[in-house]
Amino acid sequence: MRKPMIAANWKMFKTPAEAAAYAECFLPLVAGHSRDEIVICPSYLALSTLVQAFADTAIAVGAQDMHSEEHGAFTGEISGPMLRAIGVTHSLIGHSERRHYNCESDWDVNRKLHAALAFGVKPIVCVGEVQEEREEGRTNDVLLRQVKIALEGIEKEDAAPIVMAYEPVWAIGTGQSATPAMAAEAHGIVRHAVAEKLGPAVASGMRILYGGSVKPENAALLLAQPEIDGALVGGASLNPASFAGIVNY
Ligand code: PEP
Repeated sequence: MRKPMIAANWKMFKTPAEAAAYAECFLPLVAGHSRDEIVICPSYLALSTLVQAFADTAIAVGAQDMHSEEHGAFTGEISGPMLRAIGVTHSLIGHSERRHYNCESDWDVNRKLHAALAFGVKPIVCVGEVQEEREEGRTNDVLLRQVKIALEGIEKEDAAPIVMAYEPVWAIGTGQSATPAMAAEAHGIVRHAVAEKLGPAVASGMRILYGGSVKPENAALLLAQPEIDGALVGGASLNPASFAGIVNY
């Protein structure tokens, strides 16, 4: 069975001191929680702080991005081996804000996914349509393209660590979540695309998270959908009580 994952994306919020204070509040709120895998992705600067704070717990720490090369003249970038060296286990890849503000293409996402697998970083690959694409009835095509290019050249045997996240861009940070039915339909499309690339066995084992304005108030309804294997949470993960409310839905 697919163990659900609840992941937090803190974006460009929280200093290391604020991250440490968060961890102190958050830990007692999820003590003993084992139903879901919990991953928190702070800024690069707070990664070590959280790795230390969660050292004796099941909570994993992830980056929000990573470079596709092992090392080199790439000013301002961080590589998979660097993340691993400080105890980071996961990384978001292809978040819509990186696709939009940093012009990351589907092929950049593919290169980063290959790198994550090669360097032992567990990837959470984000896909999702923008408002205009949904309105024009192109959601299906966009998701198929994003998933298939992301997975190009990945071998079935290497795919186990991959987690996909369906994040409709129009729902991110807007307070307007997809309905459970809309999300479930999109997850079906993502799973279908995974099956076409990697076969039905890999597809049926792969976790697909939903992201886009998940809050304690709507988490239970979204996560009750059999196709939804967890959540990727932005805004509502910044407060420990609110994120714990989602984890403990
Ligand atoms: C995100 O940034 O991945 C996200 C889902 O944000 P929010 O929960 O704020 O919509």
